[in-house]
Amino acid sequence: MTIALSQFNEVRLDRVSRDFGALNALRDVSLTVQRGEFIALLGPSGCGKSTTLNCVAGLLPVTGGAIWLDKSRVDTLRPEERGFGMVFQNYALFPHLNVRQNIGFGLKMRGRPKAEIDRKVDEAISLVRLGGQENKLPGQLSGGQQQRVAIARAIVIEPPLVLMDEPLSNLDAKLRLEMRAEIRRIHNQLGATTIYVTHDQDEALSLADRIVVLKDGIVRQVGTPKELYDAPTHLDVADFMGFRNRLKGRVISHENGRVLLDVEGAQIGGMARERVSTGSSAYASIRPDDLVAGEPGPNALAVTVDTIEYRGREFVGTAHSKGGLDFVFRSHQEVAPGSPIHLRADDSRVLVFAEPVQGRA
Ligand code: ATP
Repeated sequence: MTIALSQFNEVRLDRVSRDFGALNALRDVSLTVQRGEFIALLGPSGCGKSTTLNCVAGLLPVTGGAIWLDKSRVDTLRPEERGFGMVFQNYALFPHLNVRQNIGFGLKMRGRPKAEIDRKVDEAISLVRLGGQENKLPGQLSGGQQQRVAIARAIVIEPPLVLMDEPLSNLDAKLRLEMRAEIRRIHNQLGATTIYVTHDQDEALSLADRIVVLKDGIVRQVGTPKELYDAPTHLDVADFMGFRNRLKGRVISHENGRVLLDVEGAQIGGMARERVSTGSSAYASIRPDDLVAGEPGPNALAVTVDTIEYRGREFVGTAHSKGGLDFVFRSHQEVAPGSPIHLRADDSRVLVFAEPVQGRA
């Protein structure tokens, strides 16, 4: 293979901040990305994912902190001096240039010899499997093909780092799955280092070696997909990892990491993910999969069913409690909307977080 990405050991964000007037879009974001890693930046809309990526790319100046490529400081360099490959949501292809010309554009701008451009463009075309489409204009390609051109264009310049901002969000569900696998294949085949922005939890879990969860411009948690899925350390991260039931209660007792909460008069046991104190407010986070319609008793809450949907092997329902808590649960049997039932979860599947202090991030 002639495409050889520039080598380095790590990219380091050191307490990077970015303000827009009074808004702190990024606050002291620190992160080290090792060569060859696939990092997903994950979080809800407005949490600062694109701002982080744009600061790394050089499209936005940082207002505090620094970005390093090994021992070279790069946040002071212009985007073209950093030479990172970028893939955007909207592809940003030149409409009047064909596939070959779009992919070769960056090399041409760098004044590379024609023979080298031809060779590298050929290789990039074959890597993204666009053989036969070389002479088409972007308008004659499908969304997935255009996204492949955008990826080829980013990697053909042999960047040390590939930055992708929600690259699949304009594709339909089936194509998204296909392109997801393609992006990982290309990353592996090239030995690339990738930072990938997404708000899609599944995409991050399936693609990334490590996930960085952002909220309000702050890094909440960094970990492998399994670490984040099994052991979120923060309420926001749990929400984002699919713990859709958030039950507010009061701590009755806690010992050795096990907590007993009073939730609307019912006793709910769980595992402490943060320090809690007796008598204080706390949240129990439970995945819909772990909250099951069943008998009254310990760890069970009385609710009224709102909706119920058949999902093949079982049912998924929504319900509310008399105190106004909302629930998503699963059930082996169909339960009629309006009927009173009990929902229960095993202690080991309930995560307990302290109530966030108002005004504290
Ligand atoms: P999304 O998933 O919706 O794209 P995001 O996590 O990528 O969201 P950013 O685009 O990084 O979020 O925005 C972070 C915060 O900074 C938001 O509150 C946003 O409104 C603000 N922001 C972003 N760009 C600007 C700008 N050019 N001027 C002012 N505020 C901005």
